[in-house]
Amino acid sequence: MGALCSVIRFENLQELKRLCHWGPIIALGVIAICSTMAMIDAVMWYWPLDTTGGSVNFIMLINWTVMILYNYFNAMFIGPGYVPLGWKPEKSQDCMYVQYCKVCQSYKAPRSHHCRKCNRCVMKMDHHCPWINNCCGYQNHASFTLFLLLAPLGCIHASFIFVMTMYTQLYNRISFGWSSVKIDMSAAKRDPLPIIPFGLSAFAASLFALGLALGTTIAVGMLFIIQMKVILRNKTSIESWIEDKAKDRIQYYKTGEIFIFPYDMGSKWKNFKQVFTWSGIPEGDGLEWRVREGCHQYTLTIEQLKQKADKRVRSVRYRAVEDYSGACCPVTKGVKTFFTTPCTEEPRIALCKGDLILATRGLKHWMYGDKVLDSTTDAGMRVRGWFPRKCVEKCLYDSEMDQPLDGEKKNR
Ligand SMILES: [Zn+2]
Ligand SMILES: [Zn+2]
Repeated sequence: MGALCSVIRFENLQELKRLCHWGPIIALGVIAICSTMAMIDAVMWYWPLDTTGGSVNFIMLINWTVMILYNYFNAMFIGPGYVPLGWKPEKSQDCMYVQYCKVCQSYKAPRSHHCRKCNRCVMKMDHHCPWINNCCGYQNHASFTLFLLLAPLGCIHASFIFVMTMYTQLYNRISFGWSSVKIDMSAAKRDPLPIIPFGLSAFAASLFALGLALGTTIAVGMLFIIQMKVILRNKTSIESWIEDKAKDRIQYYKTGEIFIFPYDMGSKWKNFKQVFTWSGIPEGDGLEWRVREGCHQYTLTIEQLKQKADKRVRSVRYRAVEDYSGACCPVTKGVKTFFTTPCTEEPRIALCKGDLILATRGLKHWMYGDKVLDSTTDAGMRVRGWFPRKCVEKCLYDSEMDQPLDGEKKNR
């Protein structure tokens, strides 16, 4: 029993380490500053507690803070849920339809992806979020999205308090001259006088908190809209990307296949209910998923395997022999390169001599492809774009070609 307790305590301590990262530190700092300033401003100057409205307002401010922190910590500590180590499909013949993760030493369940920051295969992985220092996936999708909804709402309430405090406090102090605006910060002219007058530092702190609150409202609000789209379509950001590539692949080979994304239940409400339930636990087990008619458990994983095979067939290895800055129209790479720059918004990638690139298509003087990244330092990143053909040369077939080329490559 004692041993078990110490194991639990040890695990909790490990989990607390998630807080020691710039993401949670900044996020919690912003929450602390905005909620504390809103409460101070409200109680001291704008809406004192001796009125009913003031009390309700104060309770609401506390309520926002508690609900925001509750969902934030849930998203962080419950986590996305990992594919059990050693997992494999129930029927052994289904193993051929799924990819194998060499790091986790188990098959990848449908919708799961290996996160190199978490170092585990994550169930229904959407993305790795630095702000919660954890992945957003199957188990914490609801709490994560609730946090994204509540944070802007709380910030709007706080912004209202900040603006009204500054407005009411400064209204009587501003005097307009012929060519100047004077603000009298000497004493409060409010009736009844607050215990602490609204001074310059209170003004500065309120203004700073207002900036933080408005910034958070916009930034987090946009993330909320993105996550709502993901939930209502039942299609994660990674899966949208796979679907795009499926269309691209089918068009390229003109196979006449029709790819149907299997997890969209066809009704926003049904998709919504899979994530948000009254119990707080999402539907299913995160490994087996409900699919729409005409699809089966492995519709998407088979498409992923096809894309993986296709990428190997279609891509050619190149090595950079010259540095390239990533400029759209590079001056030093020759006149033809300069004038034939691809007319597209697709990015250019900077190259350093010796870089490896997997090229998937090309023009006469330009090529498009993925930079082969060092998996130890650039976890989870993809660098793809255009570069001048002049800066690279084709790799001869060597033993390296036999190494796995995909992102799941083990550290050598
Ligand atoms: Zn894995
Ligand atoms: Zn992760």
